[in-house]
Amino acid sequence: MSVRPVRIYGDPVLREKAREVAGVDDTLRQLIADLRETMQAYGGVGLAANQLGVPQRVIVVDVPLDEEERAVYALVNPVIKRRNDTQTAEEGCLSIPGIWEDVTRSGRVIVSALDEQGRPLELARAIQHEIDHLDGALFVDRLSPLRRQFLRRSLDALARGELPEDYHPPARPPRRPGGLLPQGGPPAFGPDAGQDSPAGGPA
Ligand code: ZN
Repeated sequence: MSVRPVRIYGDPVLREKAREVAGVDDTLRQLIADLRETMQAYGGVGLAANQLGVPQRVIVVDVPLDEEERAVYALVNPVIKRRNDTQTAEEGCLSIPGIWEDVTRSGRVIVSALDEQGRPLELARAIQHEIDHLDGALFVDRLSPLRRQFLRRSLDALARGELPEDYHPPARPPRRPGGLLPQGGPPAFGPDAGQDSPAGGPA
């Protein structure tokens, strides 16, 4: 297992539509292990394979079960079968450091995936965000034209490789054994934190 660098806005792989996974084998399990480890090292609540430069339809999400325990799910070839309601909440993205914006998404989704286990509602936002990644879409695409215009300079800077001053990717693998929230936790979401966005980290 290893922590791999997360690709940043401007990297063409983030705009690639990821390929279906033909079969779950050891190579794929290795990728899933790296996705998990990287997501945890960066303090994210979700990560798509594109973000590691691998255009395959695999995502991982990190779901709080209660105050202390978290469950990390891997979804292979996830498909959103049904959507209901809409909810607006703040989102960030490990590939778009330094930018947080309100995004409207479905409040409830029914998702099918390989290795699927019963999925609570709290997964809705993270899963939609990650499935967007597999289609080469980023959360900033969901903002109003005005809002996007406002962010243009920051996004262009990211695309030129100018990272926010407080952006510190992890130098080495975390010591966190599977499942527990790191001390202090990831950056908090808005006032409705926890309601929809699992633990509120970027994804
Ligand atoms: Zn993201």
